[in-house]
Amino acid sequence: MSKPNVAILGLGIMGSGMARRLLGAQFRVTVYNRNHEKAQPFVKEGATAAATPREAASHSQIVLSMVSDDEASRHVWLGEDGALAGAARDSLLIECSTLTAGWIQELASLATKRGCRFLDAPVTGTKPHAASGELVFLVGGSLDAVAVAQPVFAVLGRETIHLGPTGSGALMKLTNNFLCGVQAASLTEALRFIEASGLDRAKALSILTGGAPGSGIVKRVADRVQANEFTPNFALRWMAKDLSYALQEASARKVSLQTVSAAVTVFQRAIAEGYGDEDFSAVSKVSRR
Ligand code: NAP
Repeated sequence: MSKPNVAILGLGIMGSGMARRLLGAQFRVTVYNRNHEKAQPFVKEGATAAATPREAASHSQIVLSMVSDDEASRHVWLGEDGALAGAARDSLLIECSTLTAGWIQELASLATKRGCRFLDAPVTGTKPHAASGELVFLVGGSLDAVAVAQPVFAVLGRETIHLGPTGSGALMKLTNNFLCGVQAASLTEALRFIEASGLDRAKALSILTGGAPGSGIVKRVADRVQANEFTPNFALRWMAKDLSYALQEASARKVSLQTVSAAVTVFQRAIAEGYGDEDFSAVSKVSRR
């Protein structure tokens, strides 16, 4: 079977790694980015640059979006220049950004009205995993659509996990990230407590990461703290966004997420202190109250 033409909407940290993987695997790729300059290097690597999401979608059997938040997703899919307006009947639309399940449901029904298939397929993994094709896709939607997407998922990821109907991927991803965000915020508080107690930070982190609290996320943040290196793999402001989306979805289901509410305030303080564009692990720099 010949490879489908693929549009990638969004060439940020994740979308750029994904576009490069597909180009490397000889897919015909059309790219769109709001800031058009970011598309130019991809043209040199063989991609076609589209002026609008609509134009990108009109060249493609599979349209994949990887943008920051609900607002950005609305921007790339909706309106006269949006991808939905250009998408062919029977094309497959995949939203990989981490978004609310509410918006995903709305988008899925617009896609269906247009005669397109739709999947929500957010990912776990970060910048290096996007670049090396080792993402894990958390997918909601029909199994038929997953089968159509699989040649693309196979180049971009090491695993595709189908979780159920539309929105299941989004809800799983928010669960995954709120657990990460809460741990990062909690480690931040541990760091302030360690400092105030006059304990040796390096020794304390070594004990925490080597013992029961040493989860993958705690280890990742602790490594960044020790190296004092906060170049973003995953921007802090997007972790804050995921925590607030989790709260929104939980509230719609009458579930109280108290640790997430607390973690959000720590992340909001980090943004107020100027760390929003750094890696999420820079939450560890939030000052003592
Ligand atoms: P990023 O580097 O900040 O890139 C964000 C992308 O969204 C850029 O292409 C940006 O375009 C675009 N965008 C922002 N606002 C827009 C708007 N109003 N209209 C159109 N486009 C807009 O973010 P990222 O790290 O690639 O993350 C992308 C998504 O993946 C997010 O939902 C994030 O939560 C999720 N995610 C990230 C990671 C990670 O480790 N980085 C891991 C898993 C999931 P411009 O270039 O024009 O600003």
